[in-house]
Amino acid sequence: MTETFKGNFTQQEPIPEEAIEAALTVLRHGRLHRYNVTPGELSETALLEQEFAAQTGAKYCLAVSSGGYALATALRAVSVQPGDPVLTNAFTLAPVPGAIASVGAKPIFVGVTETLTIDLNDLEAKLDQARVLMLSHMRGHLCDMDRLMRMCDAAGVIVIEDCAHTMGAAWRGQLSGRQGAIGCYSCQTYKHVNSGEGGLLVTDDPELAAKATMLSGSYMLYERHLAAPGPDVFERIKYTTPNVSGRMDNLRAAILRPQLRDLGRQVQRWNERYDEIERGLRETPGLTIVERPDDETYVGSSIQFLLLDWTPGRITEVISRCAARGVELKWFGGAEPAGFTSRYDSWRYADSEPMPASDRILSGIMDMRVPLTFSLEDCRQVARIIRAEVGSVYQS
Ligand SMILES: *Cc1c(COP(=O)(O)O)cnc(C)c1O
Repeated sequence: MTETFKGNFTQQEPIPEEAIEAALTVLRHGRLHRYNVTPGELSETALLEQEFAAQTGAKYCLAVSSGGYALATALRAVSVQPGDPVLTNAFTLAPVPGAIASVGAKPIFVGVTETLTIDLNDLEAKLDQARVLMLSHMRGHLCDMDRLMRMCDAAGVIVIEDCAHTMGAAWRGQLSGRQGAIGCYSCQTYKHVNSGEGGLLVTDDPELAAKATMLSGSYMLYERHLAAPGPDVFERIKYTTPNVSGRMDNLRAAILRPQLRDLGRQVQRWNERYDEIERGLRETPGLTIVERPDDETYVGSSIQFLLLDWTPGRITEVISRCAARGVELKWFGGAEPAGFTSRYDSWRYADSEPMPASDRILSGIMDMRVPLTFSLEDCRQVARIIRAEVGSVYQS
């Protein structure tokens, strides 16, 4: 008898009780707006920023309405102007080129390697075309950050990190989001902490922090921030920085604070599940495991493998056979954008050059979420099903 998986790939864990209590406190006093405080009161949002700055070792932190908003704010803060080129990954999700387009700038796509990271040789060749790189740590895969930062520093290219999938990850012990000038995180339901929607931005640069804060809609209330630079920095930029409202509110901040305190434990739980699936997939004929470098501390909230050089027909066959047995695989190589997957050439508002080497990889990327609601036995079962179906299509 063939087994069928009954789990749900989009079901996250409930919000922790401590976070629910904190949310109720905010609801009961009614001061949801971050600047709505009684004398001497510190808002949940300001405390969240203070705590996330401490957790990441950043000097400054700003909480905003979404990860995509954090990315667009970072671009505005580094003064990207309409028409400016911005380097970014060809393998990423739509909010990344979307953030670039939202400020009227033009993405220049950089290729992807078999390790699913940005192709540093391709990046090197394109570094003279832009002054900003929006680096997406897509699906949690970190490139050689030492080499990337050396190259970008030497070329004077500012790095903005999209850490939507790397909150809690690290490169040689340094937390993701802390190598570039600005790190941006998402707190949306499918990421590593869940406030429905939300974003965080960290930086050590006082002027970037002040601009981002003004941009987010702080009016002249920036002194109520606990992880912002001093008023002298705001004095320099407050008349020339527009308000593009995208603040976080106290309700979201309240439910995020306990979750962030628990992030380390959650990362361990994700990785137990990821490692279980990876073990189960190893040595499946025709399937390439994406090997993780020793220098990378990853967060296995999703897993990818490659069906390299498979025909689209056979890949579709694997997807439908797995789906019939309850296993949801996403394919980045599909001709049409589907669900959350899309390709650089499906973002038709942005011009792109053909990238044959990257197309070969993209056509083979299979992707699967690993929610914490899966047990380790669930993970073993999912891997058995993929292994069996990939194996039988490969041999057919
Ligand atoms: C989710 C996501 C974002 C943006 O996050 P939102 O909070 O949904 O705006 C950015 N980059 C990547 C790669 C993402 O997956």
